[in-house]
Amino acid sequence: MDLNLSSAASHPASPGDDQELSVRVLIICSGQAGLSAALYAARADLEPLVLTGMELGGQVSLTYAVENYPGFPEGIGGMELVELFQKQAQRFGARLEFDLAADVDLSERPFKVVTQNGKHYLAESLIITTGASAVHLNVPGEIELTGRGVSYCATCDGWFFKDKEVMVVGGGDSAVEESLFLTRYAEKVTIVHRRDELRAGALLTERANSNPKINFAWNTVVEEISGNGAVQSVKLQDTKTGEQREQDIDGVFVFIGHTPNTSLFTGQLEMDQNGYLIADDRMQTNVPGVYAAGEVADPHFRQVITSAGMGAAAAIQANHFLGENPLPE
Ligand code: NAP
Repeated sequence: MDLNLSSAASHPASPGDDQELSVRVLIICSGQAGLSAALYAARADLEPLVLTGMELGGQVSLTYAVENYPGFPEGIGGMELVELFQKQAQRFGARLEFDLAADVDLSERPFKVVTQNGKHYLAESLIITTGASAVHLNVPGEIELTGRGVSYCATCDGWFFKDKEVMVVGGGDSAVEESLFLTRYAEKVTIVHRRDELRAGALLTERANSNPKINFAWNTVVEEISGNGAVQSVKLQDTKTGEQREQDIDGVFVFIGHTPNTSLFTGQLEMDQNGYLIADDRMQTNVPGVYAAGEVADPHFRQVITSAGMGAAAAIQANHFLGENPLPE
């Protein structure tokens, strides 16, 4: 895929490391919220700049297929959808830079953002769409064996488990959807869930129940992951009886939810007790001119369509805000 991104090295119009670059709308991260905000801000002639973050397209780029985004009755690949969002935003003048926000100062306008590539931006308004990251199990062996059989992305790593046996931890939509995907490769997929009922929606649950490669370990948690250089076994515990058992396994995929990526804004923006940014129904945070959209501010819906809608709303509001609150020349 042609990423068509700018970077510190490749963008001739970019400032040097210690120069400050003024932008009207700076968008932090490039998931569906970020790219939708970019589209709307670009069409409002605000020449938005998107700092893509580590993953262009955010979590959806790691998803094999998106089946519930309207307009694609047959479903669409996650990366393909990201590419379409990106192209549409760029068509109207949005600029994307492969860079990360490393530090922000929201104490006054213009807001200051320093990036990992050493760039200094002065932003008249900011749209934060930093999303959320996979929660870890926090059990012995998990970190050491990540990338060696422990994974948080079936799309990325499923291929390595052809004809093997894997476990998927979690009982939500992600766990079930990714389990179904893993059945393309793995011989057997065991969904390990801490309760005896899935949280996942009815359609996915039905698909999992009727898939002969999927079976369930109910009322079970993973206590430890072991292996000599690669995952070989897990220690499981029955949540009802406390009984422990060891099981041989080739891979462990963890889908037990996400945590919002908000540490950059600690002490500057209001957050709820779980760290989600608090934004009002117009995506406005407690700092006028700073908007939050998508999963970083949404502990409830967390869908591609809702994130895209929030991103568009944030850009519309940023446009109003800039019209009503011009900075002195
Ligand atoms: P989720 O809905 O929060 O589910 C997390 C699952 O992990 C739950 O079953 C939970 O168990 C379990 N869990 C949490 N902490 C655990 C721990 N420490 N140890 C063991 N198990 C643990 O997260 P998600 O599945 O990632 O979904 C997030 C959002 O995205 C949801 O709104 C979902 O609808 C949406 N989504 C939608 C689709 C789709 O529509 N196709 C696909 C993916 C995600 P309990 O059930 O006991 O709490």
